[in-house]
Amino acid sequence: MRRMISVVAVLLSAGWSAVAAAQSGVEKLYVLNCGEGTAGDISRWSPGVNEGQSMAFVDNCYLIKHAQGWFLWDTGIPDAVAAMPDGLPAADPKAVHWYRPKTLAAQLDQIGVKPSDIKAMAVSHTHPDHIGNVEMFPTAMLYVQKAEYEWPGANNQPRFKPEHPVTLLEGDRDLFGDGSLVILSTPGHTPGHQSLLVKLPKTGGVVLSGDAVHFKSNWDNRRVPALNFSKEASVFSMEKIDAILQRDHAQLWINHDKAQRDGLKLAPEFYE
Ligand SMILES: [Zn+2]
Repeated sequence: MRRMISVVAVLLSAGWSAVAAAQSGVEKLYVLNCGEGTAGDISRWSPGVNEGQSMAFVDNCYLIKHAQGWFLWDTGIPDAVAAMPDGLPAADPKAVHWYRPKTLAAQLDQIGVKPSDIKAMAVSHTHPDHIGNVEMFPTAMLYVQKAEYEWPGANNQPRFKPEHPVTLLEGDRDLFGDGSLVILSTPGHTPGHQSLLVKLPKTGGVVLSGDAVHFKSNWDNRRVPALNFSKEASVFSMEKIDAILQRDHAQLWINHDKAQRDGLKLAPEFYE
């Protein structure tokens, strides 16, 4: 009888741990094409270096399937730009002229995910190439740093619709409490810029840069764009990311780096 009780206890505890395992961890990560463009003068991002040279940029969004639901990181150039034959010219010719070869909506549809399936989202920061489709997900909980949320926009406008559900962060946040999806506070590019650490079962750790860095040579040389909100904070944040990469043997995926994205699998393919 005692033996039978202990067997039942073992089975019960195994059952419980299986349930707990089923609710934790990241299962898949999709890299979505959220824009392509040409920067008129890349010295805008690397002061004094490569002046007058143009360079191709890309813009990524990342869809993550966590055991507890779908999570979207960054929303890219507005889908409406896909219908503009000449794309979205930049006001400053040195900046990026963006195109939208594929909509975010079409890529989600191809994967079989409805916008309403996405219960939580975060953006790295509030520049237009990252927040272009936030309101495609009007009920998704938005995780944003308080410093970014309260940063006055043009004409003192709020950066998000006040009615959009939001969780204001002041620092790092382990989103599901299992260490698999951790928002990293990485200010500098903007006051409340953030990056994302993703731990995938097969691929391992990946840090999604946001715009903590724009392309690899800037990362290698710790170069800070002249337009950043704080140079000192930008360098500090790059060092913070570097320490996490080393701690977790993680890769750095740089959002706007075309050469790197050309080597990545794009949706509907995915990383596990
Ligand atoms: Zn950007």
